[in-house]
Amino acid sequence: MTNFDSFSNKLSSPLLRRGFVVSGQVLWEWWQAARQEANTASIPSTEVDWLVQELAGLDRLALRLETFKTQPQVRLEIPFVELQKLWQKRIQERVPVQYLAGVAPWRQFRLKVSPAVLIPRPETEVLIDLAIAAVTTPEAQFTPPLPLSIPHWADLGTGSGAIALGLAGAFPQATIHAVDCSQEALAIAQHNAETYHLQNRIHFYQGSWLQPLEHLKGQLSGIVSNPPYIPSDLISELQPEVAQHEPHLALDGGVDGLDCIRHLVATAPVYLQPGGILLFEMMAGQAIAVTDLLHQQGSYHPIQIYPDLAGIDRFALAFRK
Ligand code: GLN
Repeated sequence: MTNFDSFSNKLSSPLLRRGFVVSGQVLWEWWQAARQEANTASIPSTEVDWLVQELAGLDRLALRLETFKTQPQVRLEIPFVELQKLWQKRIQERVPVQYLAGVAPWRQFRLKVSPAVLIPRPETEVLIDLAIAAVTTPEAQFTPPLPLSIPHWADLGTGSGAIALGLAGAFPQATIHAVDCSQEALAIAQHNAETYHLQNRIHFYQGSWLQPLEHLKGQLSGIVSNPPYIPSDLISELQPEVAQHEPHLALDGGVDGLDCIRHLVATAPVYLQPGGILLFEMMAGQAIAVTDLLHQQGSYHPIQIYPDLAGIDRFALAFRK
């Protein structure tokens, strides 16, 4: 959390100088009502606090201790009326709070997000830990070894760039190739890479899956992806925050949800070096079908399935033979 705090302080200082003010009592009354609205709408009331911290610049301690209540004036970074409007969008239109704030915390990063990209999920953070663990296993004997070969990694369907940034952070010697078919998503991913001074280590490509990486055939140490994997018919049944606001391009995996995973499993071997890894996220209930796909392809061994933080099998890791 310390990282985010210092980062947001840096971001906010020019805005603070502009400053908007509201009386502590008025802000406190709105805040109480907003928390109540959250409870009624089955939204965690901590989202109000997060929005107020992110957008209005109130610090967490002032909120926790409610010290702002007695201040004649509280300085905000956006007009109070804007804050109220945004909160109404959260309650009435079920817009995810990360889209309202325009940011999502993910691993050590504070990523810019917009409705053009899927909001990076906490469970997806596990993919990076699995990649870190995988490269130290005997199965991942890359040839030629470092420093003769620079490790090349791909993040397919990068969206906000979360996985690409995570890989760049985890593997300081690696070059990351981040692909997305959406130009709008790539602009956001690029912005996030620049924020963390990783733009020289992450190359961005517009295109479909591995197609823009033709020049890296046989050279990739790892291919990582959080592909769309939700069966088309299930999308409308997801919570309204997801179904109505997140990009279906990033969610819809076709009739059985496995269209993109089938494509990844089929095409990755040609791009991976021997010992290279294919690592991706899937939906609860897909582990058996995914394991079968990987076995049938014939180029992977061993094949491993890993659980998310809730203990549900959500990640597949396969080594190129
Ligand atoms: N995990 C996302 C969700 O909960 C889905 C992301 C995806 O399809 N890759 O809706």
